[in-house]
Amino acid sequence: MPAFQTSPGTRDILPPESGQFRRLVDVFATLAERAGFGLIIPPMFEDLGVFQRIGEATDIVSKEMYDFVDKGGRHIALRPEQTAGVVRAFVQHRPVLPWKTWYAGPNFRYESAQKGRYRQFDQVGVEALGVDDPYLDVEVITLAWRFFEALGLRQVTLLLNSLGEPDDRARYREALRVYFEGRAGELTEDGRLTLGRNPLRLLDSKREQDLLVVAGAPQLGAFRSQASTDHFATVQAGLRALGVPFVLAPNLVRGLDYYRRTTFELVADALDAAQNAVGGGGRYDGLAEDLGGPSTPGVGFALGVDRTLLACESEGVFAAPASVLDVFVVDTTGGASALTVAERLRTAGIRTDRAFENRSMKSQMRAADRSGAAVAVIIGTNELAAGQLTVRPLRHTGEDALQRTVADHELVDEVRALLSTSYEPLPARQHHS
Ligand code: AMP
Repeated sequence: MPAFQTSPGTRDILPPESGQFRRLVDVFATLAERAGFGLIIPPMFEDLGVFQRIGEATDIVSKEMYDFVDKGGRHIALRPEQTAGVVRAFVQHRPVLPWKTWYAGPNFRYESAQKGRYRQFDQVGVEALGVDDPYLDVEVITLAWRFFEALGLRQVTLLLNSLGEPDDRARYREALRVYFEGRAGELTEDGRLTLGRNPLRLLDSKREQDLLVVAGAPQLGAFRSQASTDHFATVQAGLRALGVPFVLAPNLVRGLDYYRRTTFELVADALDAAQNAVGGGGRYDGLAEDLGGPSTPGVGFALGVDRTLLACESEGVFAAPASVLDVFVVDTTGGASALTVAERLRTAGIRTDRAFENRSMKSQMRAADRSGAAVAVIIGTNELAAGQLTVRPLRHTGEDALQRTVADHELVDEVRALLSTSYEPLPARQHHS
């Protein structure tokens, strides 16, 4: 056992899985930028107060925050999510509205670690500030949906709800409080604690005993104002117009206190129920004001990268790249030729690695096979003397599998031609965690 290992709830993401991770972020970036969102890179830690604005009643603030006093005496916290930091940035910089940003990066929560639940986990997400238009909600939700589609996931369900305006929500919350207090004896101990903090949160309880009581609770629909009912109707019509399927989920309240009107969650049906939420979001208001800015509407979401990759594994889609290499250079003449040949191939955009330490031909060819490259470029004494190179397909079948000797200036074209012809892909590597 080495003296140090990753601490609980954290993990190393190694190649080739890390390549899949990066491609996933690339897919998200492409879709977000096509929809007019620009990248924001906020810091990973902020003054604790920024995150306290998320709501003291939420677990991520009250129980799971990584906070500490730094050497300058500031009370700092590692970000448990990114919306609060993005809104803090908005208040600090006052960009032109509407302000549409996307982000990718790690968050930190002191949770009990298990598969799909980590203490450091990654999210991709967007925030759009300054527009109250329900069509923006549609655009944002559709972006999340198209992202899962682009990965090839088929078993994702979009759950949709509207929490109404803060006033509607306050009246509903009060009605719930009265209802649940009347039946407090039937709730679990944890359920009663939740009731004390925020009766809305009982609605998405996962405890069966509490859910029996939830089943009879008043429904939010009856408390929604006309304006928020209309807003919600437009969101639904917009999603239908774009062919984005959704399921209405009247008890979906989500963990964060700042949500109002539209809320949504994306659930991967291929994952275990306890950790099957792959993303969620909604409309928030008041957050900018709480952070010292003008009252500004906002809508956004965060998608969990780690869980999305687990969902891809379960559905057998978006596999890790089998290899990070196209070419492996073998040089038994000392290694100086491999140096320039590898450089030339890399400059031509071909992913290339080489053998080092001037091993035997046999040992270098074994390294070439292990590398996963599709092609070996071989330089032996004969080739060196003739100013030629041998190009050997490693995973081709039939005609294409024969090796050829080419002149130095033909190398790049020959390799490109081979890479474009079909060869046996390596079996896709699965994601381990
Ligand atoms: P939340 O900010 O809690 O709504 O989280 C948004 C998404 O981030 C969730 O749907 C999960 O996919 C992901 N997520 C949240 N917490 C964790 C965690 N501890 N480990 C892995 N993924 C997480």
